[in-house]
Amino acid sequence: MFLTHLECTACGKRHEWNRLQNLCTACGKPLFAIYDLERVRNLECKLHSSLNRPDKSLWRWRELLPLPKEVEPVSLGEGGTPLLQSKKCGPDADVDLWIKDESINPTQSFKARGMSVAVSMAKYLGAEKLAVPSAGNAGGAMAAYAARAGLEAHVFMPRDTPRANIIECREVGAHVTLIDGLITDCGAEIAKRKAKEGWFDVSTLKEPYRIEGKKTLGLEIAQQLDWKLPDAVLYPTGGGTGLIGMWKAFDEMEKLGWIGKERPRMFSVQASGCAPIVRAFEAGEKFAAEFSNAHTKASGLRVPKAIGDFIMLDILRKSKGGAIAVDDDEMIRAVREVGSQEGLFVAPEGAACFVALKKLRASGKIERGEQVVIFNTGSGIKYLDLFGE
Ligand SMILES: *Cc1c(COP(=O)(O)O)cnc(C)c1O
Ligand SMILES: [Zn+2]
Repeated sequence: MFLTHLECTACGKRHEWNRLQNLCTACGKPLFAIYDLERVRNLECKLHSSLNRPDKSLWRWRELLPLPKEVEPVSLGEGGTPLLQSKKCGPDADVDLWIKDESINPTQSFKARGMSVAVSMAKYLGAEKLAVPSAGNAGGAMAAYAARAGLEAHVFMPRDTPRANIIECREVGAHVTLIDGLITDCGAEIAKRKAKEGWFDVSTLKEPYRIEGKKTLGLEIAQQLDWKLPDAVLYPTGGGTGLIGMWKAFDEMEKLGWIGKERPRMFSVQASGCAPIVRAFEAGEKFAAEFSNAHTKASGLRVPKAIGDFIMLDILRKSKGGAIAVDDDEMIRAVREVGSQEGLFVAPEGAACFVALKKLRASGKIERGEQVVIFNTGSGIKYLDLFGE
């Protein structure tokens, strides 16, 4: 294993990896996993050859992930998803569009990536009971990996979470508590009770390893595009682990000499009813204030306050990308458009990126002929209530 320690993203304080950690003990901000990339770089077996490994799951990137080598990961075959060229491509296509289809992950969303790594580490470090707040897919993924690991799962969900998400959690054995409120209220309930109950909190960015799982999105698109990153990436943003994780992967790959200095322009796509990052980006703020009366049918985007807000805003600015909001009815309409054109039943969060792409083209922020990667982060099948008969 090449993981050496954890480091605070805000104050830089060093933390040990070999015990359960949540936020920085000095300043309360998220921790990043730091690897000895010099040693990885000198490895004889080039990681590029990891592509030939029989394991197609994200654990084929083992050298860039935590967990000691001899420990079996908690895996359901997550990652290794296709990067599909849009059918709208071709000689007269407007942009060179690629879709990273995360709907085929275990539990039908990219939350599986983060949970596979987080649950593997939590189990290895001795956690017995896991807790997570979830407005959508995180709960089901955590519950499934906890079941696989033989750990107890406690999921706190807003009462109006899509039915499929609630049922999924229960049917894979989690204890589900429904709360009259938002995901932030669910998180507060866990924070209040976790010490007494002995729960380890696996909320987005409140432990250091979900981001490591999501980082593999960045590794995979680099590999799938033959080690040349696209011009722009559109990412449907809630807590932001995928965005932050990909950016971390790009830095690590540069240190390993796999890619150069070039980076895609990163765009955060949010729902108009819950767009804290868009608002903070436009106002030039360093942090994003809580978005009041947050509402959107795209449950993965219903995160009114993200603890990694400052990291995301920094990435969007550094990459010369941006942030853009999409109305619910636009994204729900786009599900059918994308479905009939691409043959993918996308989640509304994924559909939001297709709407955002049109807007970014119209405003000139994405130019004709540029290479663009869109993330379809989940399957439409979990959102049946949104669609007519
Ligand atoms: C959770 C989720 C998102 C947002 O992901 P973050 O890492 O929280 O930004 C987007 N789409 C779907 C389908 C999700 O489940
Ligand atoms: Zn700190």
